[in-house]
This record gives sequence, C-alpha cells and structure tokens, in this order.
Amino acid sequence: MTTKHIKVRDLAKELDYKVADLLKLLADEGIEISKASDNVDEDIAELIRDHVAEEVKAKKASKKDGKKAGGQEVHLRPPIVVKDLADALGKKPNELIQQLIGIGIFASINQTLDQPTTEKICESNGFTLVLEKREKGAGGKDASESKGIAPEEVKFENAETESRPPVIAMLGHVDHGKTSLLDKIRNTQVAAGESGGITQHIGASMVEWNGQKLTFIDTPGHEAFTAMRARGANTTDIVVLVVAADDGFMPQTIEALSHAKAAGVTIIVAVNKCDLAGANPDQVFLQMQQQSITPEEWGGETGVIRVSAHTGEGVDNLLERIALEAELLELKCNPTLPGRAIVMESQLEQGLGPTVNLLVKNGTIKMGDIVITGKFYGKVKALIDGQGKRIKEAGPSTAVKLVGLDGLPECGAVVAAVDDERMAKRLAGEREAAMREENLQSGRKASLDDLFRQIEEESRNDLKVIVKADVQGTAEAVVDSLNKQATDKIRVDVIHQGVGAITENDVLLASASDAIIIGFHVRVNPGVNKLAKEEGVEVRLYSIIYELIDQVRNAMEGMLAPEIKEVYVGDAEIQKIFNLTKGKICGCKVIKGKIKVGSHARVYREDDIIYNGMIASLRRFQDDVKEVDQGFECGIRLDNFIDFEEGDKIQCYEYKEEKVSL
Ligand code: GDP
Repeated sequence: MTTKHIKVRDLAKELDYKVADLLKLLADEGIEISKASDNVDEDIAELIRDHVAEEVKAKKASKKDGKKAGGQEVHLRPPIVVKDLADALGKKPNELIQQLIGIGIFASINQTLDQPTTEKICESNGFTLVLEKREKGAGGKDASESKGIAPEEVKFENAETESRPPVIAMLGHVDHGKTSLLDKIRNTQVAAGESGGITQHIGASMVEWNGQKLTFIDTPGHEAFTAMRARGANTTDIVVLVVAADDGFMPQTIEALSHAKAAGVTIIVAVNKCDLAGANPDQVFLQMQQQSITPEEWGGETGVIRVSAHTGEGVDNLLERIALEAELLELKCNPTLPGRAIVMESQLEQGLGPTVNLLVKNGTIKMGDIVITGKFYGKVKALIDGQGKRIKEAGPSTAVKLVGLDGLPECGAVVAAVDDERMAKRLAGEREAAMREENLQSGRKASLDDLFRQIEEESRNDLKVIVKADVQGTAEAVVDSLNKQATDKIRVDVIHQGVGAITENDVLLASASDAIIIGFHVRVNPGVNKLAKEEGVEVRLYSIIYELIDQVRNAMEGMLAPEIKEVYVGDAEIQKIFNLTKGKICGCKVIKGKIKVGSHARVYREDDIIYNGMIASLRRFQDDVKEVDQGFECGIRLDNFIDFEEGDKIQCYEYKEEKVSL
C-alpha cells in the first residue's frame, strides 16, 4: 500500500493558511518540515485538518457566547483580566500570555491589563476593542453604590440618639502595672457576674460598673493605640495613663502622654503601686504639672486616682472617674444603623478560617449580615463574645470576634455591613483587581529613560546602619570612620546612633529600614538576638575599631552586584552535516580553545552572526561528552537551530560573574 501525500503548499491553500503558519502548526505537532514543496503524509494532513476545524468551531462558539459582538469588535468591561481577554479572543490563555511576552509584558492568567496593551493585543488578533462602562450599581441598593462612595466611608444622617459605652486604653511606661490593673478590673467583673465563662481574647473587654458599661482595649501600651491611629482609626475615647508611684514619669510615660494628647482624648492618670513603701504620689503630681496636665487636686483639670493593682485599692474610684468622664463626653450612637466596626486583630483559626476581632463603632453587626472591608467580604457566620459565647448581634462599643470574612484585613480597617451581597462581592473583586493593576502598573510604568536612571541609581548602594556605643563620644567616632568609608559606589547611611545596649526597638527600626546594627563596646539586651533572627536583622558587635571598619568594608563589597563578563571558550568549524531522525547535527572540528556543552554559542557565516544560542549536546563518536579540546572532532547539536551549513563557524563563550571591589 502506498502512502498518499500532499504538498505543504497545497494543504495551506486548502485550509486558507499561510505556508509559514502551517509550517509552524506542523512544528507544534512535532512534525519537522521546512519547505513549502515538502510532502506531508495524508494521515498527518488529516490531523491538521481536524485541528483547524476545531479552531474554527471554538471561534464560532465564543462569538455565539456574545463575548464578541459587532463582527470584529471585542466588547470588554474593565478591569480586563488576561483570562477573560483570551476567552473573548477565542484563544487559550497560554497563547495570549505568549503574545504578551512578545510585546514585553510578563503577565499571569489572573492579571489585569491596561487599555493600551489590551488594544494592541486585540489589534494584532484582528479585533477592535470596545470598552464598556463598568456596570453602575447593578442591583445595588446600598446608598454608597449610587453615590460612588465606599460603603466603609458612608456617613449616615440618622440621628445618634442613644448613649454608648466609652472605649478606654491603658497607656504608660513598661512595668508600671498596665496589665495588672486591666486584669484587676476584668477579674472583679468576672467574679461579680459572668462566672464560669472561658475568657476569650477578642481585642477588648466590656466591664459593667454600677450599671454602666465600659469597654477596655485588651492590648495595653501606646504601640497598639498608635498603630490604630496611624491607620486612621480613632477607637479610643479615654486614656488611662498608668504611672508607678515609686518610679514616676519615665520616657515611655511621656511618649504615651504625647500620643494621647495628639489623639485629643480624655486623659485620666492612675498613680499605681500605691501599696509600695517607696510610693511617692506627690512626685507624680509634680511631674504632671511639669508636663502641663495639672492635677485636679492642684487646681487643674486632669483627674488623678491613686490605685494599687495588687490590693485593688482605688480601682473602684478609677472606674467611677472613667464613668464620669464618659458621661461628660456624651458619647452617642444609633444601634439601628448597619454596623461599622474597626478591625483590632485578625487571624486564621483552625476550624473557623479567618476570624476578625472587631470593635463596633456604631450601628449593629448581626448574624447573617453581609460585611465588606477593603478587598474582603463575607457573610457573618458567627459572632463570639468575650466569654466564648455565640451571640446574635454586637452593638456600639462592643468587641466581638467575627467569623465569615474571606481574608485577613489589617488592623484599623473599617468593616461595614451592607445589604447587597452581589454588590459586596463585585466591589471586593474590583478592589482586588485594582490593587493588582496598581502593583502591575507601578512595576511597568518606568520608561526606558527611567529605567536607565534607576539602574544608575541602584548601582550606587546605601549601607544603612544603626550605631550603638558605650558613650556618645565613641558613637560619634564610629559614625565618622564609617562615613569615611563611603565611595562613589556605596554610601553609608547612619539612620540612628545612640548610647547603650542594643534593644528590641533598635532591631525593629533596623528591620523597618533594612539596616544592620553595629554595636561598639555594648551588649545586646536579653531576647534581642532572637528578635533579630526573626526579623532577619544583622547585629554585629565590636571592640576594636579597625576590625569594625574592615568588616563593614566587606559588607559593603558584598552589596555590590558582581559584574557579568563574557568569557571566550573556543571556536569550531562545521565540516559536515548529519541528518539524523532526531534532527540535524553538525560534524565539527575544534580549531581553537574548547567547546563545552551548555555554553553559549554563536554561529558565524563569513562575518555575519546567524544564530546565538546554546550548545545543546556534544558527542565524540557515540558518547555524550562535556567538552572537546582543540584539534579534535565532535558532533554538535545546537539548541533550536538547524539552518547551519558546512563552513560555518561556531564560537563558544560563557558568562562569568566577577566580584567588584570598592
Ligand atoms: P505593664 O508592663 O505596665 O503592663 O506592667 P505589669 O502589669 O506587667 O506589672 C509590672 C510589675 O509590677 C509586675 O511584677 C506586677 O506584679 C507589678 N505591679 C503591678 N501593679 C502593682 C501594684 O499595684 N503594686 C505592686 N506592688 N506591684 C505591682
């Protein structure tokens, strides 16, 4: 039986294909044919016909889907995601990704594309892009949608008629008793009522004192307080500034006071540890005066309460004072509104998924509500209170753990209850896409000029350092000698210098600014090394200045990107061409240096470079070898290239990294 053939040229004509396209299609199917006049076996031709018929069918189907309307137009609504564009063009996503790479864009299947790129891609596929407007408020009843305001920012005009509990934060210097005081207050409460309940950490605890509810933020210290404020969430109404009676105002007391003042909240001073023999409340009064918060007893306006977290003495007075201040603040709310809450913490919990500790600011969050915060949304599946009990709703100034969001929002974010799940889903999706687009754009915005400038700037590196020394004079000397090490390639940037042991704060600062810490004649505080390890911060201790300078220079040299240089390996000449079943191989003689498998190779015909790629395999007789030296013959297979001729030269080269010194 004779096999029937058809010429590539004729098959192309039959299928209305360009010869080049058909050859490519054949190559994709693993059939290597290079000329229009070559024959294709009839069974292969049949395979190709089937393939083309499938393609036509797929295109028709996608047209019918209505994704492509108006003949050659593609109608899309932003954000345009690679996957959707591929679908609309009747292409496979990986084909589209390939096309995008062709125009210098490296996008994944779920990435969004900007309009110019989309237009370009549509054009090159023979389509015109018609951008459709984003659907406005499709079914959205929420006020925010029609006004174009994010639900989290919607202000309700409904009157705030009811009073709400105050939210209180405990601030002060470390070890002055913030936690003890908070515990004492909470324990009295548990003993008084809700016995038996497992106390859950939900970010804040509600305490009832004389029939009045008071909400205490669980995490004491101004770091948490400030972190929330930094994100725009003013959660606190009253700050209790805890000052130990035996210690008085300390640096963190002053810091905390500044934060409280900056937040414009009511301040009450709790002079703690009054049970101690060394307690000296008068000193605290004096220091308050110096800090311009004159105590009431001295004719000022700031309430001061003497307490002991140990004995419980004065704790009632403190609560009474808080209740009084809260009354003066006339804190109001409207529990009938949709809930608005601030994220205090969010975490993944086994069996529950993402859980969020919230403080409800206004309105009420109920079971089954649809909630949205940034790019996350969900239906409230459970609300858990401080006793670990499931509750049906959480009103103003209550802390609650919410189960049901589809991700972990950051501390300080606003969670809003909305009445339309579809809107929430779409909005969350759009926000996520917009964030992705922003990331993509910020990575792509650079013009070539920008890019060159950036490369130039980047090649001038900064070594950021934090210097801690035993005394100020030494610290300055170390900074001086470090600055002298700066060259035109590297700058030394001392972001902080100080006296004393290396602390956790130094590590946090270094971590935030990508710095290393240099200690000279100082020690590292306990626990700091562990933190440094976790944060990936390098801490180096020295006692000899030369050693310090030497090592810093090493660190600086290590920062310089190695220079990449081309290194010549050898030349070979093609003497004979072998047509093997697996493709073409050139029989060569190494005329200079050596030829190495895996090296880069250029093929020269006369003086023209006709190929630049890799040496895919190298053979001596029947064996695969790693390299062949000058004077020997070998078989070379080039990666993806067979158009060589006898007499062509193959030049073999490699790239080598060279360390750059300062
Ligand atoms: P925080 O760092 O401000 O939260 O302080 P802690 O609540 O952890 O207290 C620090 C230390 O002071 C602990 O050893 C407590 O037992 C102790 N302490 C706290 N309050 C009092 C108090 O009223 N009297 C006495 N004598 N010690 C206290």
